[in-house]
Amino acid sequence: MKSDLLKASANPITLKALSLVPSYRAYRAMYTLLQESQWWSREELAAYQTKALSRLLDHAYENVPYYRRVFQERSLVPEDIRTPADLTLLPFLTKEIVQANLADLKARNYPESAFEYVRTSGSTGTPMGFYYEKGISRAREWAFMKTQWDRVGYRFRDRCVILRGHVVDAASSGVYWKKALFGRWLIMSSHQMNEETLPAYIDRIRTFRPRFIHAYPSTAVILARYMREHEVEPFPTVKAVLCGSENLYPWQRSLLSEAFGCRVFSWYGNSEQTVLAGECEESTRYHIFPEYSIVELIGRDGRPVAGPGAMGEVVSTNLTNYVCPLIRYRTMDVAVATDKQCSCRRQYPLLEKVEGRLQEFIVTRNGHLISVTPINYESGAFENIRQFQMYQEEIGELIMKVVRKPTYTDEDTRQLTRELRWQLGDEVNIHVHFVDEIPRTEGGKFRYLIQKLPISVGDL
Ligand SMILES: [Zn+2]
Repeated sequence: MKSDLLKASANPITLKALSLVPSYRAYRAMYTLLQESQWWSREELAAYQTKALSRLLDHAYENVPYYRRVFQERSLVPEDIRTPADLTLLPFLTKEIVQANLADLKARNYPESAFEYVRTSGSTGTPMGFYYEKGISRAREWAFMKTQWDRVGYRFRDRCVILRGHVVDAASSGVYWKKALFGRWLIMSSHQMNEETLPAYIDRIRTFRPRFIHAYPSTAVILARYMREHEVEPFPTVKAVLCGSENLYPWQRSLLSEAFGCRVFSWYGNSEQTVLAGECEESTRYHIFPEYSIVELIGRDGRPVAGPGAMGEVVSTNLTNYVCPLIRYRTMDVAVATDKQCSCRRQYPLLEKVEGRLQEFIVTRNGHLISVTPINYESGAFENIRQFQMYQEEIGELIMKVVRKPTYTDEDTRQLTRELRWQLGDEVNIHVHFVDEIPRTEGGKFRYLIQKLPISVGDL
C-alpha cells in the first residue's frame, strides 16, 4: 500500500488511473485539505474539530455497541457533547478496555472486509490490538506525514537512507543493506552496526548520495557517535534527518545535527493514530494536527492540566477512524504543554516537549517520578561506554547496565555514578552492572530504560 502511493506520486502518468483507487483518493483528499487547513485561524480550526467530533460521536452512538453502552450508562446522547471541552463527560479508553471490548468497538455498518487488524508492539506496557480501516487509515496517515516532511523539503522521489529497526540478512552475502522502492531507499541493517562494519556503512551512504535519512534516534546515534569519534565528515547531500517512532532526547538531537551537519526533524505519534505532532520549518516544538485528533493533557487527578509548562498524560480522540473509534484514548505518553505561538504562523496547538512514555520514568525512594530526558549521555562520564541501559524493578533502585569499551576503568564507574547521582538526586541508588551486550526490542528499537514497576498517571 505504502509503495503504491509513493509510486503514484512519483509518476504522473498513473495518476488518472489511481484516482479510482480508494486509498489514493483518501490520501489525496486529506493532503489537499491539509494544504489549506494548516493556515486556518484558530476559530476555523475549532469549527472544523467541533463538526468532525459531532459526526464521529453520532456515528459511534449509532453503530458502535461499546459507545452506545457508554452513552446510555451516563444518560447521555451525542448532542450533549457540543465542543471538544465537553469530552470530559465521556470516560477514558484504556488499552485494557480496548482489549476487553474489541468486538464491541467495531462499527456495525462496515463490512468485515473494511477492517485491518493492527497490533501494537508489546515491548512496554500492555500489548493491544485494534482496527484500521483497510487501505484508508494508512493512506490518510501518509497525507499527514508528507505534509510534515514538506516542511523540510521532502519529495517522494528523493533518495533516502533508512536507519530503523531493520535486519538485512547478511549471513550469506556479507552485505548489510538492500535497496527498495525502485532503488530510492537504501535500507540499512541496524543489528550489524559496530566498529568493524561502520566504515563500510559510511562509504555506502556516501556513494548512495541520499537527500534524507529516516531514522530511529537510537540507531542514528550509533552511526553519529562513530563519525564524531573518527572525525568523519558529514554527508554533503543530506538535507535532514527525519526521526520518529522513538522519543528524541536533547542530547541525541545535538549529536545528530553535529555529526550529520544538518537539521534533525522529529515528530511524535502512535500506531493507534490518536495523536500526531511534528516540528516545523522554524521551531522544534511539536505542532499538533487538529485535523487528525483532539488532544487533551491529563494530570494526576484525571482532569485536564492547564497553563504553560504543565505536564500531563496525552489522552486523544482520533477524528477519522470510523471502523474502530478510539475516543479519549489514554496513550500512556507524557508531554508538556505550552501556550506559545509559533513564528511559522500556523495556529496549531503546540507541545513544548514529549517526555516519553510513562514507563520511561524512574521512581525515586519517596515515590517521585524523574524523567530520563535531561540525562546527558554525551558527558565525559559516558566516554568509555559502548552501550548502556537503565533498568528498574525496585523503588529507589536503578541498575545501569554497561557494555564497556577496552579503555574503561574503575574511574569510569565512579564518574558515571557521580554523574547519574547529580542528575537523579539522592533518592535513587545506582548500581553499575557490566554486560556483554544489550538486546534491542522485537521491533528493533532501543530502550534506554527498562521500567518494570507499574506506573500510572496518578503518580505524576
Ligand atoms: Zn511552527
